[in-house]
Amino acid sequence: MALFDLADFDNHEQVVFFSDKETGLKGIIAIHDSTLGAAVGGCRMWDYASDEEALIDALRLSKGMTYKNAMAGLRMGGGKSVIIGDAKKIKSEALFKAFGVALDRLNGRYLSAEDVNITTADIAIANTMTPFVTGTEDKSGNPAPFTALGTFLGIKASVKHKLNLDELKGLTVSVQGLGSVGYALCKHLHDAGATLIVADINQVALDSAAKEFGAIIVGLDAIYDQDVDIYAPCALGATINDDTINRIKAKVIAGCANNQLAEPRHGDLLVEKGILYAPDYVINAGGIINISFEEDYCREKATKKVEEIYGTLLNIFTKADALNKPTSIIADEMAREIIKNGGK
Ligand code: NAD
Repeated sequence: MALFDLADFDNHEQVVFFSDKETGLKGIIAIHDSTLGAAVGGCRMWDYASDEEALIDALRLSKGMTYKNAMAGLRMGGGKSVIIGDAKKIKSEALFKAFGVALDRLNGRYLSAEDVNITTADIAIANTMTPFVTGTEDKSGNPAPFTALGTFLGIKASVKHKLNLDELKGLTVSVQGLGSVGYALCKHLHDAGATLIVADINQVALDSAAKEFGAIIVGLDAIYDQDVDIYAPCALGATINDDTINRIKAKVIAGCANNQLAEPRHGDLLVEKGILYAPDYVINAGGIINISFEEDYCREKATKKVEEIYGTLLNIFTKADALNKPTSIIADEMAREIIKNGGK
């Protein structure tokens, strides 16, 4: 595997492979860009098919964090870590302590937090070995409810722009993934009067969404074929791809998952199909925004900043229309400009 030749290598500042023999810990930390500050981004645990797949995930996710933090107006760089392995099998207190040691070696150049298959409790264990973590319960707390709020407001902004509607009442949303963010998003959507169609591999979450929100359950693959107004990807990335793009009937794609477009060209294909896409790292910035208020934490201030996602997305949509470019490209251009100007 030639790291520097990988398509997803974007002149990342630093890529660190870490391991611990005793606990079986194996992982990668990718620091993409620290122009705006120390790199911040969560840690994902996943049973990757290969080390290369894990590396590519870390490279893509860390770049996404650079752009996310810039677009959210935060003085933070972009980084991300992945731990390789099946969460159901490898999780242990000793493993997260070893992860804390690995983080500590970077001396604050990268700060970690929870992400897929990692909880705030896991991060609290790492915190016993290093101060370089964020989003623990004793600080700003779980970022997921803030990500859900930002995603909900982003869906509202998308609906305003595409359908000229101020309300979600009467609209149908397909939500793929009922995890920490997806489930909380369902609650917002249900409270706003939307009908929900959901898919997940977790039957407990599905049953509870059916009971609590009257959600209609469909199969993992059938989620792409639903006759819905909005498709909200809230599980893993690359769900907008050659296989799914012609099946999606929604007018809006707006969800919390990172790296939703399998390739940049899928952004162009969405424009051709007349589907409005809310760029993932803009709509899902609520959690990192909350974390950015960690020192001297104030929930109201954090919430107010999360609410800015609505206006940021409208701005991107308007620019994309004016220039006839994909929203994903416009967001990337805006993020790069912010970084070039040192955060302004
Ligand atoms: P999570 O692990 O709590 O939830 C993921 C959910 O997806 C789980 O319920 C899982 O069972 C389900 N899932 C897995 N494979 C699936 C499949 N093939 N089809 C349908 N469902 C499937 O993770 P989360 O924290 O809710 O994050 C969800 C997404 O949002 C991820 O892409 C994450 O990177 C992104 N994100 C999360 C946050 C945050 O604050 N947690 C912030 C920004 C972005």
